[in-house]
Amino acid sequence: MSTQDDLRRILNRIDGKGYPAYKDIRGKYEFPGFTLLVDHVQGDPFAAPSRLRVQVPQEAAGYPPDTFNKRSRRIALADFLTRAFDAACSQLSSRRGTGKSGLIAIDRPGQQVLERTSVLVDEEAVEARFVVGLPAAGRRVLGRQAAAMLFDDLPRVVASALHFSANNRVALYRHIKAAEDADWLRSQLAANGLVAFVADGAVLPRRSGVDDRTLRKGAIPFQSPALLRVEFDLPNAGPVAGMGIPAGVTLIAGGGYHGKSTLLNALERGVYNHIPGDGRELVVTDEGAVKIRAEDGRAVSGVDISPFIGALPNDADTRQFSTANASGSTSQAANIVEALEAGARVLLVDEDTAATNFMIRDHRMQELIAKEREPITPFIDKVRQLYDERGVSTALVMGGSGDYFDVADTVIAMDAYVPRDVTDQARAIAQKYRAERRQEGGDHFGQVMARVPLAESLDPRKGRREVKISARGMKTILFGISDIDLTAVEGLVHPSQLNAIGQALYYARQRYMDGRRTLPEILDAVMADVDRDGLDALDRRVVGDLARFRRYELAAALNRLRTLRVA
Ligand code: ADP
Ligand code: MG
Repeated sequence: MSTQDDLRRILNRIDGKGYPAYKDIRGKYEFPGFTLLVDHVQGDPFAAPSRLRVQVPQEAAGYPPDTFNKRSRRIALADFLTRAFDAACSQLSSRRGTGKSGLIAIDRPGQQVLERTSVLVDEEAVEARFVVGLPAAGRRVLGRQAAAMLFDDLPRVVASALHFSANNRVALYRHIKAAEDADWLRSQLAANGLVAFVADGAVLPRRSGVDDRTLRKGAIPFQSPALLRVEFDLPNAGPVAGMGIPAGVTLIAGGGYHGKSTLLNALERGVYNHIPGDGRELVVTDEGAVKIRAEDGRAVSGVDISPFIGALPNDADTRQFSTANASGSTSQAANIVEALEAGARVLLVDEDTAATNFMIRDHRMQELIAKEREPITPFIDKVRQLYDERGVSTALVMGGSGDYFDVADTVIAMDAYVPRDVTDQARAIAQKYRAERRQEGGDHFGQVMARVPLAESLDPRKGRREVKISARGMKTILFGISDIDLTAVEGLVHPSQLNAIGQALYYARQRYMDGRRTLPEILDAVMADVDRDGLDALDRRVVGDLARFRRYELAAALNRLRTLRVA
């Protein structure tokens, strides 16, 4: 194997040459204490930066087995080290020429602890994957600057971020224990008849609508109502009390601006683990929880929305409903049926982002518009069947209609950010003021069909490229010449999840879309491969910017591909 002196010689030789000369540094080099791998060299100073890796053997890195010997801990340790690497890089931040010259960066995590490809830890080594903007003056190689980056800056980052002894031991253990506790808590929900748990003292509000960090000033910590209080004994933190949300239909009522949506959003995020200090470390939700919202304008491909939508004025078949432009109510119906198809166990609905005519149809409206003239069966008439027949729970923010009292198992009222259990009160009111509306939901929920996606309807080609897939921030996956709009898919929390989903779509197409396998079978297969082989299984390249996603969001991306056809 080459040594660092070999690398130094190459950099000397190409100094001042045209930028493509950098291609010569591809390879593997032995440094004191670590191995450097140059996997991909950028074509010019303004292109996507070069991809490099360091591998630090455990003899040098020194992580005790208890920091990575369980899945929860291994993921959290890798997450912690990604953050440490990122912090060490931002200490450097010296510009060294044109374009991205001088950049050393790792995929920056948000508030969630996710499995990523940025750092991998096992018994053998710690591997960090990062990008480097190889320095240039105009389009000429700055060999000496590159040497300074790779021989001075990089070893400093490695030493301060990737060695156990250099890290804050207390913070590191806090990180992995918090993740382990959260995973354990989530694993206890179902056996205790719960779909979510919010610990007392949790801080739910965020700094702003675009800043997911915890609200610093004036946040009222969460306080569970006595009737819904449950206790757990966490493996690391010990006893914890909080509000358990039981399986079934749960209504979150309360005045405007009293914290309803904030609670629901926290439940939505509870499928992920959060970093210490976030405030939501012990807010956990059933992994199968999916936010459902209206999304008018989206495309729908062959979805049976007939449980919710009957005869449409254009005679479209709602048992195999396709449109390039769904309405508010049909998009929400499709979102629900697709979530069920993918295996969702809990639906989270907020009146703020729901279509009103999908949620309710009151007595007076039933009198004015006969059932035969209204294609929509409102959610209120289906939500019980979802639970009773399919075991799918719903947590629903609803400050606008007390008709829902009739179908709720649990009613929580948010009052100045403090939840109260008002189930009995709501029952009494429902008894006293009987709703005159008629049930329109029929005897059964109806079928949820498993569709068979057709591989040929996913075309990854673009121009001369056989496969061109990339992601743009949190909003879009570019798949061939198609844009997949994920703006309304709220279950995503990090851009790297979109990178991974983009690759997973292609992977699923190549491996599993054979014209026979159903979508749920394909999701099973892909997720099993990722469980077994890690996210690297999805990408033929070695990249550091893939993050774990759920099957629901993978399905959501496929369902929003406008060219999708199903059998
Ligand atoms: P609602 O859905 O009931 O209308 P929101 O959940 O949108 O209300 O909350 C309204 C505002 O109150 C938001 O700005 C939110 O950040 C803030 N908020 C929510 N919960 C708390 C809390 N526990 N402490 C302080 N502020 C909060
Ligand atoms: Mg709200």
